[in-house]
Amino acid sequence: MNRTPLLSRRALLKRVAVGASLAPVVGSLHPAFAEAPLISASAPEAQALKYVEDARTAQGATPGSSCATCGLYQGANGSVQGPCQLFPGKEVKSSGWCSSWIAQM
Ligand code: SF4
Repeated sequence: MNRTPLLSRRALLKRVAVGASLAPVVGSLHPAFAEAPLISASAPEAQALKYVEDARTAQGATPGSSCATCGLYQGANGSVQGPCQLFPGKEVKSSGWCSSWIAQM
């Protein structure tokens, strides 16, 4: 009878350790895990919404309003930049602002 040897505990732990150590490298190389590019304030879609990278320079921005406090911002708390629902495939600066700013719920 030819039986396939079971994976020893040591071999299994070794494989798990190798897989865990490679995960960050693989994650950074895979496009699904890569950060989206930052939108340029000069891009037509950004200009259409008067997007600026610094809310302090925006005309019409109320004090305290910025991408970080916008209901459409999808970046993590404290992030420097993150996705915005209005600019798919791009990220905005958390310090930015545009004319579609809406308060978070
Ligand atoms: Fe920033 Fe909100 Fe405008 Fe998106 S909609 S660019 S998060 S202010």
